Amino acid sequence: MKDTETFEQIHWPDGAQCAVMLSFDVDGDTIWKNGASQIEGGSRFLRGSSVGNYGPNCAVRRILTLLEALDVPATFFVPAKVMEDHPALFKEIDRRGFEIGHHGYHHERYVDLTPEEQRAIIEKSQKIFLEVIGKEAKGYRTPSGDWSRETAGILYDMGFSYSSSMRGDDRPYRTVIDGKTTDFIEMAPKWDLDDFVQFGYNLYPAEPSGQDRIAGIEQVFANFRQEFDGYYREGLCFVIQCHPQMIGSPGRLRMYERLVAYMKSKGNVWFATGSEIADWWRENY
Ligand SMILES: [Zn+2]
Repeated sequence: MKDTETFEQIHWPDGAQCAVMLSFDVDGDTIWKNGASQIEGGSRFLRGSSVGNYGPNCAVRRILTLLEALDVPATFFVPAKVMEDHPALFKEIDRRGFEIGHHGYHHERYVDLTPEEQRAIIEKSQKIFLEVIGKEAKGYRTPSGDWSRETAGILYDMGFSYSSSMRGDDRPYRTVIDGKTTDFIEMAPKWDLDDFVQFGYNLYPAEPSGQDRIAGIEQVFANFRQEFDGYYREGLCFVIQCHPQMIGSPGRLRMYERLVAYMKSKGNVWFATGSEIADWWRENY
């Protein structure tokens, strides 16, 4: 069967064969603090927070240097509390031309919140974005799992351009809100293109809860590359979701470097930020 029988061929900008959205979730210590708050005496366990803080304290700058060396754009999603705690770092990410998107205030689970609570978190976070980098977020990635039935409509009402949260396609798509197809674009990442699923580990509180993970770097590289080959062949939108605290170690980041270099070597790949892909899709599809 020809690939074109599966999907209508997408005509990407400048005749590119496929699109790539490199993305990083700079969670800082929010996930770990939230997790520790769920267990008795959890605040005594500080090591998890330091696992998260490795991102903004150390790994993000290593990633920025690599992205600039490879000359590729990227999108960083951040809980606004982490931006508040590390303003100089996020000013630098912005100054160096990368996009920064919304990822909650404290990595909240939107599915557990009322619409009013969700709006309050987004408003509070947008104020912090304005104060620190002088602009509001246009993109959203849901923190800690799911969003609620109301979330997409709230984001759309509040002027967001896109989300990169769901799993529903290998191409960007228009989100259906209250039965209407809208201009709110989704670029879906995948669990198998998420480094947290491959590499995430903490002894206690247990992460993952069954406590058996840290995949081999070469296996993960092979998975990511194989998946990219499929996206490239079918001309799709490859969204890879990484976390500085996971991918940003000295060894793993060399794997990421090889992956991006491999993608570039295929030729004719459109590397773009979330906003660029969403805007382009909205105008053309
Ligand atoms: Zn996150």
